[in-house]
Amino acid sequence: MKPTNGFYGRFGGVFVPEILEKNLNTLSKAFNSYAFSDEFKKEYIDLLQNYAGRPSPLYLSQKMSEKYGTKVYLKREDLNHTGAHKINNTLGQILLARHMGLKRVIAETGAGSHGTAVATVCALLDMECVVYMGAVDMERQKPNVDRMRLLGAEVKAAKSGTQTLADAVNEALGEWCARPDDTFYLLGSAVGPAPYPEMVTHFQSIISEEIARQLQEKEGRSYPDMVIACLGGGSNASGAFYEFIANDKVRLVGAEAGGKGVESGQTAASLNLGRETVLHGSRSLVIVDENGEVKEPYSISAGLDYPGIGPLIAHLYETGRLEAVAVTDDEAIEAARDLCKNEGIIPALESSHGLAAIKKVDLPKNGIVVINLSGRGDKDMDLILNYNN
Ligand SMILES: *Cc1c(COP(=O)(O)O)cnc(C)c1O
Repeated sequence: MKPTNGFYGRFGGVFVPEILEKNLNTLSKAFNSYAFSDEFKKEYIDLLQNYAGRPSPLYLSQKMSEKYGTKVYLKREDLNHTGAHKINNTLGQILLARHMGLKRVIAETGAGSHGTAVATVCALLDMECVVYMGAVDMERQKPNVDRMRLLGAEVKAAKSGTQTLADAVNEALGEWCARPDDTFYLLGSAVGPAPYPEMVTHFQSIISEEIARQLQEKEGRSYPDMVIACLGGGSNASGAFYEFIANDKVRLVGAEAGGKGVESGQTAASLNLGRETVLHGSRSLVIVDENGEVKEPYSISAGLDYPGIGPLIAHLYETGRLEAVAVTDDEAIEAARDLCKNEGIIPALESSHGLAAIKKVDLPKNGIVVINLSGRGDKDMDLILNYNN
């Protein structure tokens, strides 16, 4: 599904200061021509295979299949270099940056997963790298700050607002306004002004392309009955769904962060609660208060702790194509512990929301369900081990 003039239905668009409009136009043109050229594809695919380790396995969990009465496959994005799906997008965008002749890259990061992936590809292609991160997040995710610095990035603390992800995005956008001519903004999710949602989705769609191919080999048909993915900004979900959006036989399920409960006031369930609002350069569903002010989101999982959602996901939800399930902290932790014990896989807490969602939907009997295991959980071990519910 392609956007029309940057919009998916009512959602998306470009709502930025005038000074950035030219940059976004240039970026759109570069994306639409270069990212579809043979030259780009050859290098991108080579890096995905030989640097990032793709294709990632599609693993059949015997135990989950037995338990749920349907085949349950895990798409192992946790096995990618740097430990999550983020590398698919950063490799694509960094090749674009180099093609555009830009040598300085800025990015935002929440937990540090995207920042790490950006610092990684900047090291690879000898680019200057500045990552904005909320001051509070820098405290909470110190190992990732060290990782970025070791890779040669400068990590700058965002000290405005709640000093978390949304503030880091604001500072990165501000910096882009200050230096629009020599700087590439490498955005980490399927959010922000056009063309970012489309571009990030495109680079992540390798996930569903591989799922289709792998299912054809293993099951003799190229689509599952259901795909489940967790929702932060929506990039791993958009990528895991993309090939199947036009196929009505495939149910799409998004697992959003219920936090302490959708009605608790401490949640990041932007589909369940969101109002149509402009945030970070595009219009989508955003959690706001009575006055229309963006509310501080909450989730145990830093990667899902965002008040908005990408415009494609908002559109799929609003048109009834996507089922949204809110998964609480408790449920995500339980699912994480189960996967550790039963499969020997430590999942990211973000991904654990997708794992938990399988208990909350009507499953196809004797069908095929794919859960996108978006990342590994080394960064979350302390929480998974010591959480008390
Ligand atoms: C960043 C992250 C997410 C959330 O981001 P999306 O853009 O919604 O995919 C989910 N899982 C992991 C492991 C992440 O690092």
